[in-house]
Amino acid sequence: MYAVALTGKEQLEYREVTLSSCGPEEITLKVHAVGICGSDLRIFKQGDSRIDMPRVTGHEIAGEIIETGSMVTGLEKGDRVTLGAHIPCGFCYYCQKNMGHQCEKKHSIGYQVDGGFAEYAVLPREFVRFGSIQKIAGTTSFEQASLSEPFSCVLSGIREVGAGAGDTIVVYGAGAIGCMYIAALKRMGAARVIAVQRSAPRRQKAAEAGADRVVDPSIENMSDIMNEETNGLGADRVIVTAPSAELQNEALDIVRKTGSILLFAGMKSAEAPPFDTDKIIYKQLRVTGTHGAPRDLHMEAVKWIDEGLINFDLFITHTFALYETDLAFRTADGKEGLKCVVLPQKP
Ligand SMILES: [Zn+2]
Ligand SMILES: [Zn+2]
Repeated sequence: MYAVALTGKEQLEYREVTLSSCGPEEITLKVHAVGICGSDLRIFKQGDSRIDMPRVTGHEIAGEIIETGSMVTGLEKGDRVTLGAHIPCGFCYYCQKNMGHQCEKKHSIGYQVDGGFAEYAVLPREFVRFGSIQKIAGTTSFEQASLSEPFSCVLSGIREVGAGAGDTIVVYGAGAIGCMYIAALKRMGAARVIAVQRSAPRRQKAAEAGADRVVDPSIENMSDIMNEETNGLGADRVIVTAPSAELQNEALDIVRKTGSILLFAGMKSAEAPPFDTDKIIYKQLRVTGTHGAPRDLHMEAVKWIDEGLINFDLFITHTFALYETDLAFRTADGKEGLKCVVLPQKP
């Protein structure tokens, strides 16, 4: 089969490899769609301590089961499925508390085992046992299903920050994740969602996703906008999806007293801001973060996609064949569109 392996920094190699056989507790998947995540780009540019190269990355996967090991139950050949990213060990503190996404072992598809930028992927035993493999509706396309993993992270963030109906919410960054936040928050009854984004094409997408107001921070001042929008009260919730120390600090200013802030995008610790903790104390704020998503929210994400609760097609702006994966990465890195998805079965 063909696969695209990361062989070094910014080096992707489209090559023929042997597909390993399916063990008794494993599943072989024909990969139909795999999205490029911000973390794939980070690995592509900087490497990652959890990855030994060459490695096939990619964890936002949807495909069709073509073989199940003799001991696998509940899933069978022909099932159309989408995957979560984490490979929970099943036995550490977090796994036993139903938080497999925080598993001590930190194993994920596309990190310690080969992922989705390939025609086929073999899902390891721990993943088949404890990971998230969700069947998708016949009406759901593989492209749409490949959004289940990033969207599960969005649902996790919304749960964590406590956003709900009636809230005024500021979302910094309108990439694929930011736009999914905007659409989901509106669907859940947010009164006003204000998106902040420098790039004009992405501002357009934020508006299409349902933002009530879209702000260009290079010409507009956020504190003026908050005065207009909330009579000086401040936002109920602020979600920072852009990796920026400046924005994380601005969030402390524009959130109302007793409001909450979600920090979604990680940064290198050297770039971490001196966080003004006095604001957290005296404004009585809740500042939280999320990484990945627990299995129940991956299941919920698939339900949103199957039911078409928001327009998921809006978030996919580019698709590529497998041999074009390098171009797909460079396009994603250009930050013009939203999600870039590779379709390994496309000729
Ligand atoms: Zn992802
Ligand atoms: Zn574990």
